[in-house]
Amino acid sequence: MPTNQQLFDTACDLMPGGVNSPVRAFGSVGGTPAFIVDAEGPYVTDAEGTRYVDLVGSWGPALLGHRHPEVTAAVHRAVDHGLGFGASHPDETRLAQLVRTRVPGAEMIRMVSTGTEATMTAVRLARGATGRNLIVKFAGCYHGHSDGLLAAAGSGVATMGLPGSAGVTEAQASETIVLEYNDAAALEQIFAEHGDSIAAVITEATPANMGVVPPAAGFNALIRELTQRHGALMIFDEVMTGFRITEAGYWGASGREEGWTPDLFTFGKVIGGGLPTAALAGRREIMEHLAPTGPVYHAGTLSGNPVAMAAGTATLEHATAEVYEHIDAQAAAVASALGSALETAGVDHSIQKVGSLFSFSFGTSAGGVHNYSDAQAQESFRYGAFFHAMLQAGVFLPPSVFEAWFLSAAHDDAAVEQIIEALPGAAEAAAKA
Ligand code: PMP
Repeated sequence: MPTNQQLFDTACDLMPGGVNSPVRAFGSVGGTPAFIVDAEGPYVTDAEGTRYVDLVGSWGPALLGHRHPEVTAAVHRAVDHGLGFGASHPDETRLAQLVRTRVPGAEMIRMVSTGTEATMTAVRLARGATGRNLIVKFAGCYHGHSDGLLAAAGSGVATMGLPGSAGVTEAQASETIVLEYNDAAALEQIFAEHGDSIAAVITEATPANMGVVPPAAGFNALIRELTQRHGALMIFDEVMTGFRITEAGYWGASGREEGWTPDLFTFGKVIGGGLPTAALAGRREIMEHLAPTGPVYHAGTLSGNPVAMAAGTATLEHATAEVYEHIDAQAAAVASALGSALETAGVDHSIQKVGSLFSFSFGTSAGGVHNYSDAQAQESFRYGAFFHAMLQAGVFLPPSVFEAWFLSAAHDDAAVEQIIEALPGAAEAAAKA
């Protein structure tokens, strides 16, 4: 087997940056990406045979851990009946039913293939249903790479320090209003000025693409109240949080809020159990604006693909209360050990955590991290040293300080112990950076 470096050199010749998604290139942390050839439970193994405890979790889908036997068996069963039909089949309905029973407000569902497609379609649907043009989003939230949503985006755009993306026209950008997250006054003002032109406010239920940034108490409810008052829609992007943050049930972050639901949801990651499936969902009267019942067009050759439906259904069926309790407890243990290690090494930091989703930032303890400006102002130069010390100790972290760490049902005490033992050395490396 060629080395990681040899594989990367060949990949760089064939693919821009050697990757099919930018952050995988280790651009902000430096070094050669590990080329993963196997994943099982809480571990991934690279081309050189090095095994790591995995905290990337396929960037979210691997809620049950890699290669969960029941999920794998369901995928095998589906494969035995064909890889795709391009026609309706019962497993689409099964997964849609599961989503509806777990997510209050998800009355109807449309399966798509990626989170980007889900948010892009939700935005088009909101415009089509309201007859309005303006979309409000929050800086640092990432809603995929469709044109109108790339302004001041988090995730890889934040990691690379880009303001947005080349190739997005001014006309598209001008219909997206970007506000600072958690700024209630700015939100109220924009509705006072443009309330009757706003089609939707799109927000991550709990932002996790500028690091994790918990919504201030009442912020999501304020979005709900203002959108309702002005006839705009609220799109709750739960691509990251859906079926992962579950303090009040099995559904997404919206389960934590009481007394209201958004008009539209977007799901991705966990809902596909590692295969390419995502969804938008929401109120029947809005969802019925989608073709073929309505005039808002969306279609997909691979939408509702049977193998992906099987992986998603098996994943949600095995995402029990015990699974969430386990992940929450392991995340709490890792976050607490991370805080202690950084404190002992004298590294100023804060840890932002909602349920099992957490991240940390350097040099932010004084003010905390409440929005994208706070996240960007951190001492992110320390992360490369931290990341590589963890990698050396056999722990595979997201190669960006703006990403959350993903634990899974398969992260048992041995895996968590390995993470915890690696933390003091990484904290010391960060202190010296
Ligand atoms: N929305 C959110 C909140 C996300 O975190 C992501 C991806 N990380 C997306 C949308 C886009 O999803 P995908 O990468 O599947 O297109």
